[in-house]
Amino acid sequence: MGSRLQLAQCTPDQASLPQNEASGISPFLPEQVPVKGVYLHVPFCRHRCHYCDFYTIAGREEAFEAYVERLLDEILASAAVLQGPLETVFIGGGTPTILPPGLLKRALDGVRTALPVGTNCEWTVEANPETVTEACAEALAAGGVNRVSLGAQSFHPERLKTLERQHDPSTVGRSLDRLRQAGIEQLSLDLIFAIPGQTIEQWDADLTAALELGIDHISAYSLVYEQGTPLTRRRDRGEVTPIEEDVEAAMYEHAISRLAEAGMVHYEVSNWAREGAACRHNLLYWANEDWWAIGPGAAGHVQGVRWKNLPRLAAYLEGTGLPRITVPEQLDEDGRIGESFMMGLRLLEGMDRERVESLLAGGNRAQVRHAAIEGRVASGHLAWEADRLRLTPTGLMVADSIIMDLL
Ligand code: SF4
Repeated sequence: MGSRLQLAQCTPDQASLPQNEASGISPFLPEQVPVKGVYLHVPFCRHRCHYCDFYTIAGREEAFEAYVERLLDEILASAAVLQGPLETVFIGGGTPTILPPGLLKRALDGVRTALPVGTNCEWTVEANPETVTEACAEALAAGGVNRVSLGAQSFHPERLKTLERQHDPSTVGRSLDRLRQAGIEQLSLDLIFAIPGQTIEQWDADLTAALELGIDHISAYSLVYEQGTPLTRRRDRGEVTPIEEDVEAAMYEHAISRLAEAGMVHYEVSNWAREGAACRHNLLYWANEDWWAIGPGAAGHVQGVRWKNLPRLAAYLEGTGLPRITVPEQLDEDGRIGESFMMGLRLLEGMDRERVESLLAGGNRAQVRHAAIEGRVASGHLAWEADRLRLTPTGLMVADSIIMDLL
């Protein structure tokens, strides 16, 4: 994006990348960093799903213990610079719950004892259904976790096979039972639609199955063919046929109406929650707040600087303290304005007029953005309601293109 001013552009293989503290995030930030959230990455999975482009590694069980030791070291280094109180902690992956319960608990204890975790902190861990044993659920609860986001994706065995997921649909309910028995009540399911071969009836059955499990949050994303994934190569070889765009749009519309009927609030383009159960950590992202990143591949954002920890397990395990990073960037004014629109409009509550007007008053693209908003209001994709600018139901269907106009 042309409006972005790069502070530095480092790749892991650049010989010029310093091997010392200067290759970390510290030079770009003040000595003490106030943040509201922390994201911690666990880059291990049992198997790599065919659509996945996250930083994760299949197998490598022998590295789990060393990884947790290194995490504890990074947590202590982070504690020296972070100011809380933390309102959210999010442990994602990969599959954090692939760690044996004892190691998982050590990592959680490390976070809780070293970092400035606030009293009412939302503490989420991502999990895959096949990894949630009783011991795992107990370790999560004992470690302070109060919310789990479970990767169900589909309840149809054939669709799970297309995605190369490892679990049987029946494990989702069993995992939720175990988490509830351990005392974790805030439970979310991830679902994917527009999977090759999927029909609207199957998608409806997935939504119904999810709702019957009594969870309070659903994230539903359409399948994306990310560059370089096995699924995309299979598509390119003609082995899988993507769902047609109008069917995909119908599936999204169906999710909106089906989940509304069930009393879920559609609060973000891809997220629904029961009253009061919206994911507070993701709300930090959408409000462009500051959060810290721990673990290789984790991305952080503080005071306009975005960075990503180097996604290299070996380099991470060899290092100490704060990890090396790639691509720190600082947005210029236009970049910050565009990003504020991108984040703000993803929320169904939209953006208040005062905020929109103050954003439109700055940057070099004010006229272009003004015209884009007027055009989208005229076409019915955006609307002013109760002094807030929001995506309309038809705008939701093309949210990405509206947001691109405003970047
Ligand atoms: S479980 Fe999640 S992180 Fe792991 S490979 Fe599958 S999609 Fe990627």
